[in-house]
Amino acid sequence: MELSRRITGITGGGSDGWGLYYRAQALKAEGAEVTELNIGEHDIRTDPAILEAMHEAAKAGHTGYAAVPGITPLREEIAARAQERTGVPTKAANVMVTAGGQAGLFAAHSAVLDPGETGLYLDPHYTTYPGTIRSVGGLPHAVETRPRDAFQPRADEIAEAARATRARSLLINTPNNPTGTVYSRSTLEGIAQACEEADLWLISDEVYDSQVWEGRHLSTRALPGMEARTMVVGSMSKSHAMTGSRIGWIIAPEAAVTQLEQLAINTTYGVQGYIQRAALFALQQGTALEQKIAEPFRRRRAIALDLLAGQQAVTAIPPQGAMYMMLDIRATGMSGEEFALALLEEERIAVMPGESFGAAASGHIRVALTVEDARFADAFGRVLRFAAARAA
Ligand code: PMP
Repeated sequence: MELSRRITGITGGGSDGWGLYYRAQALKAEGAEVTELNIGEHDIRTDPAILEAMHEAAKAGHTGYAAVPGITPLREEIAARAQERTGVPTKAANVMVTAGGQAGLFAAHSAVLDPGETGLYLDPHYTTYPGTIRSVGGLPHAVETRPRDAFQPRADEIAEAARATRARSLLINTPNNPTGTVYSRSTLEGIAQACEEADLWLISDEVYDSQVWEGRHLSTRALPGMEARTMVVGSMSKSHAMTGSRIGWIIAPEAAVTQLEQLAINTTYGVQGYIQRAALFALQQGTALEQKIAEPFRRRRAIALDLLAGQQAVTAIPPQGAMYMMLDIRATGMSGEEFALALLEEERIAVMPGESFGAAASGHIRVALTVEDARFADAFGRVLRFAAARAA
């Protein structure tokens, strides 16, 4: 039996970096010790106090169907967090609770794209972006960002791509995975203007908003005129080390949330009540907990920058946010993929090839700051020496 073109076409046929992941898993299964700098997940688990709240909620009976758009106190808490950080008046009715940021990205694109319509995204990009757009029947179209611009997008190129493709939406991500770029106010003003000129929906992926090392995170939703055309995607995965709990949100105009609820009724039927209550407890701990969870990445970023200063084979734009660092390994003459595969075989260190984040990241690798400090320092040093030996 034939499956739909929509589902068989999700991957678009390209390489997505999973080959390296599976090779690392195979080596581990053979007993090799692999240092995994390829995964965007904390090396700590969810805080015991959050687990306690989850357990208490389950024991108290919150194991039945929960309110589909999210329980009211959680929607209120998420709205308050957004309002506090952006100044934009935000109510529970603007919030849709989703099964993680990824489900939010899917739902937001479902809400703004009809089949065959173009959704723009920026390259380099988080791995799932083009697949997410394809999975709602949309046509993904990448707009390049460049190392020499520190990966800040150029608004005129977005506007031009929007005109050429008659796009309906633009997906951005700040702080950015994989580049670590935090979009500046002038970048965001340019993006806002491009969205207004081309009448685009803006889907703003802000799942790393608690991990900012330089400058300040700004939400495009806060710029004049943008609230009505912006859907912000958030998540507890990165800010609260709750990746496996699958909880996130969309902040959008009320009328959009009403329709998103219909989509949820017909797909996930909401998020588990005990997870929602654990998320509520976690958010009530305020920014102190978010900072505590972000702190190890700040330390490892500093360790990496120190090690980079002592060599020439590899260059990097210091990440302004998020839990990764992009390394330019073009001096080795290798592609990101060749470098990552050879590094895995010879040094037993797994990193992501830049190519899996799009053409604009070719000749780069992405290192995740997600292993314990001493082990990270050792592995990062070995990556640099491996590169130096190849560049020589
Ligand atoms: N957006 C970005 C940029 C990400 O890096 C990730 C996870 N790596 C997600 C969204 C989705 O995360 P989750 O579904 O766990 O919230």
